[in-house]
Amino acid sequence: MSKKNEIKGNCACGNVKYKIEGNPLFTQACHCKNCKLSTGSSFVIHTMVMEEDFKMSGDVASIDLPTGSGKGYNAYFCIICGVYVFCRYNISKGRIAVRTQTLEKPIEPQAHIFIKSKDPWIEINDKKICYNEMYDREKTWPKDSLDRIK
Ligand SMILES: [Zn+2]
Ligand SMILES: [Zn+2]
Repeated sequence: MSKKNEIKGNCACGNVKYKIEGNPLFTQACHCKNCKLSTGSSFVIHTMVMEEDFKMSGDVASIDLPTGSGKGYNAYFCIICGVYVFCRYNISKGRIAVRTQTLEKPIEPQAHIFIKSKDPWIEINDKKICYNEMYDREKTWPKDSLDRIK
């Protein structure tokens, strides 16, 4: 893979910096209550990448938090500014979910999930990418991304 495609990101204070050396797998916004609580906002946007493509520097703290599936996840924060930079879901080993807005060039969501808990004052124009809860990954992710996680 070419270094030219390298994607970079950082926390608010610059202590945590990371690079993604391969193509991201998928980007989605989640409107569930867990994500609202962990962001203190209306939804989270995650960009999923292969763990081996993710290179990080700077000190982070981590904590186990619950998910709707009951399996939980590990969230990673900058120890200085507290920005939540990425997480690891226990049900998707080998992959990392980066907080999309910590990327230098954020990626537009390819899906919005848990629309049933969406704040009523948020209007998403593209209804085709809205899912009441979770989507069927086999039908939603690009084939190239599905091949890479097999
Ligand atoms: Zn920071
Ligand atoms: Zn969520």
